[in-house]
Amino acid sequence: MTSIILKTKREKSLLRRHPWIFSGAVKQIEGHPAPGETVDILSPDRTLLGQGAYSPSSQMIVRVWTFDPDEPVNASFFRSRLEKVIQTRRFLYRNCDWKHLGCRLVNSESDGLPGLIVDRYADFLVCQFLTTGAEFWKDTLTELLNELVPNQGIYERSDANERKKEGLDTRTGLILGQEPPDLVEIHEAGYRFFVDIRNGHKTGFYLDQRVNRGVVAGFARGMDVLNCFAYTGGFAVAALKAGAVRVVNVDSSADALAIARRNMELNGLNPELAQNEEGNVFKVLRTYREQNRQFDMIILDPPKFADSRSSLMRAARGYKDINLLAFRLLKPGGLLITFSCSGLVSRELFQKIVSDAALDEKKDAQILQRLSQAPDHPIGLNFPEADYLKGLICRIW
Ligand code: SAH
Repeated sequence: MTSIILKTKREKSLLRRHPWIFSGAVKQIEGHPAPGETVDILSPDRTLLGQGAYSPSSQMIVRVWTFDPDEPVNASFFRSRLEKVIQTRRFLYRNCDWKHLGCRLVNSESDGLPGLIVDRYADFLVCQFLTTGAEFWKDTLTELLNELVPNQGIYERSDANERKKEGLDTRTGLILGQEPPDLVEIHEAGYRFFVDIRNGHKTGFYLDQRVNRGVVAGFARGMDVLNCFAYTGGFAVAALKAGAVRVVNVDSSADALAIARRNMELNGLNPELAQNEEGNVFKVLRTYREQNRQFDMIILDPPKFADSRSSLMRAARGYKDINLLAFRLLKPGGLLITFSCSGLVSRELFQKIVSDAALDEKKDAQILQRLSQAPDHPIGLNFPEADYLKGLICRIW
């Protein structure tokens, strides 16, 4: 067995069951572990603290699989982890139509499986193996998933940026079973959505916004809505089904907007109720400002602006810019529903940015509700980094 020995005091985070070990915390490596291989993690006094996956190319040199020194990391370990994780989803969705369910089945560190993301879209599973450790166990994990979750096919979308930091190439394609159709239909709380598993963003759909679609619906009746960063129109469908008068979807992706249009029909909505505007939100908002356009509700759900500490300032300026423009375009009494999915932007910082934007626009606004990610994207109490999606519903007086 190969081991890593931690430097003095660097075992503290491990004792709090935090699963990341940075290379700077390691005093010594004993043996010659291969990439992805399981290593023992020893404190400076050689107490066994757990076992994790070795990732020599990454700054995060080990990610912990288990804090139990006596638990061997093998196929039956992964089986029991996956069983637990699936049980949580069976509980969360026990009142749902499981056949057409779209949900996150495995949420990486917070589900005790660092580097593994599995989303389910009706009969298809979509996996991301984001770390050297998850990659090492890929065949085992795929076979277990296939056995534990009835499916027609398991598709890989390991084309996320995280793989680069691990020195892994991107990889996409069918792993097991049948090729998914071009669009897979999922049902969610009375809505229906088409998901493009092969080419869509992330694994195909923003499952993390599930609960927030319902929240938007709760406010949308009678409203004229501007849905910025609309993707395939999840919020548009929710708002219109709830009686919104009209939605303008803005997105830079023509492919996403084409699916947004199909999602209107799929939900029995007149496509004319949604106007799709292909363009850059930063520019479109400025154009609307020049045209003195006004809306009752504006949704801002941008992509991750900050993916490193060095990009934080620029990200903050980006968030401020769009929020400021949105405040300008809101009618009195209007609602701004604004999100940030950058984990590096804290809730406090995000609220500060939004409040600065209101201040600059000389708008008095109040927070009606704070929003977060859906429960199938759990946040390990030992892993606060998983708390990435934050949103505010602000009302201007
Ligand atoms: N609100 C969506 C998810 C948004 S993801 C949902 O609930 O499903 C972010 C979206 O922003 C993507 O669809 C991407 O195509 C789009 N995008 C990224 N940068 C953009 C920009 N500058 N202007 C317009 N759209 C942009």
